[in-house]
Amino acid sequence: MSELHHNLIGGEWTDGDDVIANINPSNTDDVVGEYARASEADAARAIAAARDAAPAWAQSGPQQRHDILKAASDEIMTRREELGRLLAREEGKTLPEGIGEAARAGQIFGFFAGECLRQAGDKIASVRPGVDVEITREPVGAVGIITPWNFPIAIPAWKIAPALAYGNTVVFKPAELVPGCAWALVDILKRAGLPDGVLNLVMGRGSVVGQAMLDSPDIDAITFTGSVATGKSVAAACAEHMRKVQLEMGGKNPLVVLDDAALDTAVECAVNGAFFSTGQRCTASSRLIVADGIHDRFVAAVTERLKGLVVDDALKEGTHIGPVVDENQLSQDERYLAIGREEGATLAWGGERLNRDTPGFYLQPALFTETSNDMRINREEIFGPVASVVRVKDYDEALAVANDTAFGLSAGICTASLKHASHFKRNSEAGMVMVNLPTAGVDYHVPFGGRKGSSYGPREQGRYAAEFYTTVKTAYTLP
Ligand code: ADP
Repeated sequence: MSELHHNLIGGEWTDGDDVIANINPSNTDDVVGEYARASEADAARAIAAARDAAPAWAQSGPQQRHDILKAASDEIMTRREELGRLLAREEGKTLPEGIGEAARAGQIFGFFAGECLRQAGDKIASVRPGVDVEITREPVGAVGIITPWNFPIAIPAWKIAPALAYGNTVVFKPAELVPGCAWALVDILKRAGLPDGVLNLVMGRGSVVGQAMLDSPDIDAITFTGSVATGKSVAAACAEHMRKVQLEMGGKNPLVVLDDAALDTAVECAVNGAFFSTGQRCTASSRLIVADGIHDRFVAAVTERLKGLVVDDALKEGTHIGPVVDENQLSQDERYLAIGREEGATLAWGGERLNRDTPGFYLQPALFTETSNDMRINREEIFGPVASVVRVKDYDEALAVANDTAFGLSAGICTASLKHASHFKRNSEAGMVMVNLPTAGVDYHVPFGGRKGSSYGPREQGRYAAEFYTTVKTAYTLP
């Protein structure tokens, strides 16, 4: 039996109700570790601890916050290979992707360590003579953080780092499939010197621990990344308690390829955006919208690339695509593969379950062609290594198809035309637009977020994170 990893409540590592085994999706015989599962009562104690710790942490100085976040950043960077290996082992991203994500978490803590020292307000003249007006930002209080499994360290980092930097305390509930990175991150932050109760970890079920957070009147704000269905109940619960909410949900991101695109660039953008990280990214390019003049060459080249991709154990050298995260997700992917066929799409390549040396959830990347934008495979998020090509006649039709979706997270275009690129940047109904770049893969110091059904509330990351993690105060003084 491996060592049991505990929850952190009020500065104490504590047992939960029961224990969950963290299973490696590349090899289901491999148990990554054992993790305590919090009960509803544990969640209540964590919320109370965050609430009790909030006033003192709100008063902590920028130097103290900076030093803790900087120490965490340094440790994550130093241990990025080990953390990246843990990530790849528990989630199924390839080792280079895992190490890259761990490094990203370190960079995010570094950025927000700096932000602790750069917080500022405004002092401006009043319209009333002799009166001073000051505009400052204050912490929101106790923040609930609910995260998904697909970025087990980067998403917790980009929520926890700004929450702490701006003076909030945290109750953190990671996804059940990936407690390993969450635990490691919390352990690093505790040892970096966070006072007791400032960061509380409650690993456990969404329906128990997550729901307890939604139902508590003592949480001042909730930031959530996950499915649309859960996001809606998070929003409803937050409306009930009149609390701040920030939601990042699905995507059905278009990548437009125009006739004048550099074929190699377009193929790389499509393959990277649609299939890397096993397609399990909310920014994945699941709709490839391709102009008639380049369509056949593009499909042939993408198919050729897919044939050369190695799908295998995430930790093996040479693997391009790791396994799907679990049996549930794999069944969902297969269900959509069947739906696509029933809808009349052509499966140009892939879609087979694969056997490898170890028992795991391996799926060949799949490319549908001759699809129309109203098919379910083009309307609903699949969240796997499955992409569809939609053939269009020109740029105008491509833009209309790109925007014809309930989602609006990321959108890309491959073209040599400045006119079309500029028009697309201006008219895409997505929160993030990429020109000659994959729809997935973003910087950490600039805003992240979408429109329509993809996101709700203020942006994440960079300085824009302050919108969610602080509340503005306007003070008037007559000296
Ligand atoms: P995914 O399909 O990515 O797992 P979910 O929305 O189911 O998306 O999960 C995202 C996060 O939300 C996870 O941490 C999960 O445990 C949590 N969650 C699920 N159900 C609830 C709920 N009823 N209340 C709060 N959190 C929940």
